[in-house]
Amino acid sequence: MNSLSPTLWLCTAMLVVAASALSAFDMTQRTYRGFQWWTCALWLNVAGAAAIVWLDAAHMTLPLLQLVFVPWPLLCLLGLRRFHARVALAGSARADLALLVALLVGASTAPRLLGDAALVELMPLMAASAALLYAAVVAWSAPKGHEAHGLTSLGALWLVVALLPALGSAWGMAVHGAALQASVVALGSTVMAFMALTLSSQRTERELRQSRSRLRVLANIDMLTQVPNRRRFEELARRALQSDEDGSAALLLVDIDHFKQINDKLGHAAGDRALKLVSRCTLELLRSHDVAGRHGGDEFVMLLRRSSTQDAMQVAERLVSYLQQQAHAHALPRLTLSFGIVQMRRGESIDATLHRADLALYEAKRLGRSRAVAADGDSDQPVFRSSQRLGLTSS
Ligand code: GH3
Ligand code: MG
Repeated sequence: MNSLSPTLWLCTAMLVVAASALSAFDMTQRTYRGFQWWTCALWLNVAGAAAIVWLDAAHMTLPLLQLVFVPWPLLCLLGLRRFHARVALAGSARADLALLVALLVGASTAPRLLGDAALVELMPLMAASAALLYAAVVAWSAPKGHEAHGLTSLGALWLVVALLPALGSAWGMAVHGAALQASVVALGSTVMAFMALTLSSQRTERELRQSRSRLRVLANIDMLTQVPNRRRFEELARRALQSDEDGSAALLLVDIDHFKQINDKLGHAAGDRALKLVSRCTLELLRSHDVAGRHGGDEFVMLLRRSSTQDAMQVAERLVSYLQQQAHAHALPRLTLSFGIVQMRRGESIDATLHRADLALYEAKRLGRSRAVAADGDSDQPVFRSSQRLGLTSS
């Protein structure tokens, strides 16, 4: 064993740990396109360092073998191009590979062609630095933004690794070329492994966050009409009522009259358009602090905060007029609505209020539809108050 071996052994061990960490992560966690390139780059460095240890022990010439440390930044770059497929990086995978071949061929033939023996030791270091600088420039070429996250740090890593051997020599560090290069590569690879793991975990976390918010939307919003579904409506209504005075809100249950006929005569698609139109008109008429939702089928529900049943009757009238104007513009037949309206009561659950509103709606249907009926009194003996037929003033 000569003096070089301990440093090289240590570098090899560091590289094995870094490469194994990537392989283990790849086998056990979700990884993305490009990750395998990073793993390959690190295992190549392991092979290079191990070969140098072996050759050094056998007292054989090293410089040519040091060329094994040239490809890793370019392999990492190829991985990065795949990982950030939607980020426009300068150059192309072909250009990376062409540069790699040129550097390997140039560095191995230049000393002989130029007849300069000093270049034999220098060329591998220069070729490796050129590859690193190129990778750094490409990483920095990415447009700034969320997707290009981590590229600036990778560029900085490659720049530092490219400059370290030169800095080491400038400071007069008496380290053998191969040991210096292996140390720098081991250090750079370890940081690279850490970055690869961070980039992958961050992407997984971002995707999880996105799918969680998609799920939340799916669980809360009625996909056809884009208004809150019944469960979400009740949640929003309960939350809204917490800050209001007891009994200060009016609840309206709305049902489209003879909706089945629209489906039967004009088709299900026209029925869907009618449902969407009712929900859109409802949202446009309500104030920002009111709450609306789809109760199910052709029924909608509204909570008017700080409003009386009288106010709710006027809202019903306005909604029907607006809907009839809009229906005409959307090539739909004249739509009429029936309403069941109640005042929220102190300590009453939303379910109980909805039940009273349902009785009022039933009464509106019984009276001939297209009207708003307000219910007062208990649910076993409600007192109804009905409006005139709604929408008589509009065309
Ligand atoms: P009424 O005046 O008594 O309310 O009569 P109606 O025809 O409206 O009767 P009902 O409320 O019972 O009919 C609801 C219909 O709504 C039945 C169902 O096929 C239809 N429907 C429920 N959900 C959808 C939907 O998402 N799209 C469409 N196009 N139709 C739906
Ligand atoms: Mg109906």
